[in-house]
Parts: sequence; structure tokens; C-alpha cells
Amino acid sequence: MPKFAFFQGQILPFEQAKVSVMTHALNYGTGCFEGIRAYWNADEGQLYILKMREHYQRFMRNWHLLCIELDYTIEEMEKWTVELLRREGYNQDTYIRPLAYKSSLVIGVRLHDLQDDLAIFAEPFGKYIEKEEGASVCVSSWRRISDTAIPPRGKITGAYVNSAFVKTEAILNGFDEAIVLNQDGHVSEGSAENLFIVREGVLITPPVSANILEGITRAVVIQLARDEMGLKTIERHIDRTELYVADEAFFCGTGVQVAAIASVDHRPVGTGRLGPVVHQLRDLYFAAVRGELPRYRCWLTPIYNK
Ligand code: PMP
Repeated sequence: MPKFAFFQGQILPFEQAKVSVMTHALNYGTGCFEGIRAYWNADEGQLYILKMREHYQRFMRNWHLLCIELDYTIEEMEKWTVELLRREGYNQDTYIRPLAYKSSLVIGVRLHDLQDDLAIFAEPFGKYIEKEEGASVCVSSWRRISDTAIPPRGKITGAYVNSAFVKTEAILNGFDEAIVLNQDGHVSEGSAENLFIVREGVLITPPVSANILEGITRAVVIQLARDEMGLKTIERHIDRTELYVADEAFFCGTGVQVAAIASVDHRPVGTGRLGPVVHQLRDLYFAAVRGELPRYRCWLTPIYNK
């Protein structure tokens, strides 16, 4: 459990950061959130927040979808996040959860005329998928929610019921994770991560109009592939059976980091083992996020004063 939380405008002991059972967001899923990672660099004794600016930019853009009106600026949220992590004093990899939500204590489904509030907490966090070097994956029998119903780009709390259906089905059927198709039958993403395939030395990933979350790690992967490996990424629709014939495939996201997909629906992807492109991308990613590549230090915010 964390020791502290940012709640109702201040950092409080974690036990005091509590909401009422009548809270609108608890009853109706009317909140949006972020997931941010901070990486521990043991040699430097430093904790680095990855891409904090980009996460808070996306967070604030998503407030518009839910008519959330809060006075916080990006700089203020960054300042509170750094302060919270300093108070926690973590010296290991950490997950940070900012949550903006409808805090009114009223019955009635709507987005307007409600109070909003912001909470932030953080706790140590390791792997999201155990088999990061080769996950066994299925295509879900569920379909991805659509922008015409609940926009996936909004990172809306209630929308994650869809992800929960997808994930639980996969786990109960013995898989590590699932890929979900959108209403058109094209590949969208994983339950809580974006997806890439590799075909003949080119990265392919679904476009932002495929009902995906517009992932920050997705953008990082596209940049690393281009600048460090000279590989191009094509954003286009992917058919289900392209997953079966791809040379390599992988998930990426704040939680999952960069995780190889070993098989889809019991068909091995490529050799069924960690392929060269995903291998190199994982090495680059983990070096960059821990501050080992000077070129990408600008992605990182150090927590502790040295
Ligand atoms: N898709 C979904 C549905 C997600 O919840 C997430 C975040 N964990 C991602 C993709 C990856 O996004 P990001 O790289 O910004 O964390």
C-alpha cells in the first residue's frame, strides 16, 4: 500500500484518501485516468519518471471528453507527482495513477453539472505480463468498444470494463493476454496495450482510428525503431490472420513495457521465440527508460535531488 496520496488538493496519509459510496464516478464509471511509470536506476540512486509531460497532456485532453473541468495545470500536476514520489521515497520501479473523476454525491447519469476532483497515488510495480519474452495470446471473443459508444482514446474508467472482459476470458482460458478486434473485425489492440506486428522488416500497427488508445509507448517504439534501427512503421488496419503469418509481434504500453508475443490462437508467431526486432527494441526501451541512453534523457524526470 502507498503511504500517501494526493487527494482533494493536498498530499494526505493514504488511509485518509477515501470517497463516499455515492460518488458519481464509482457508480457510473465517469472518470478518466493515466498510468505512468517511474524507473529506478540503482547505479545513480535515482528514480526517473518516464514521459510525464506527455501523460499529463493526454490526461488533460481527455478531460474534454468527459466535460471535466479542473483548475490544475500540467506543471502543477507534475509538481505534485514529484512531491508525492519524494515523500514515498521509493527505490524501485513504480507505477503512478492520476485519476480525474466526477466526485458529486448524486444519483443521475450525465456528464454536465457535476463536481470534478483529482487524485494521484503511486506504488511499486514490476512486470504486468509474466512472460514478457514470449506471451501466449488469443484473439478475444469480445469486441473493442467503439468511438461511437465509449471512446477508447479517452482512457475512461468505465471503458475498462471492456478490457476486464477481454483479460479475464484470456486468463481463464489459459492464455497470458488477448488481442481484441474492433467492430469492423480489424485488430485493435491488447486488453490494455497497443500492438505491433513485424512483416519483412517493417513495423505495422493499427491507426488511431482503429479504436485504440493513442499510446505513448506506441510513439516511443515508432521513434526508437526509426532512429535507432532504421525501421519504418506503417499505420494501417491489420487483419486477424496477419497475426498468424507475421514474422514477429509484440505489445507495448506503460504497464506491459515491450513484450513479445510467442503465439496467437495456438499458432506460433514466426519461430515462436523472441525475434531479433523485438529483442533489440526491448533492449533499447529498457536502456532508455532507466536513463542509460543520453539521447533519451529528455524523456525522464528525476525525482531525487542529487
Ligand atoms: N491501450 C490500452 C487500452 C491501454 O490501457 C494502454 C495503457 N496501459 C495502452 C494501450 C498503452 O498506452 P501507453 O503506452 O500510453 O501506456
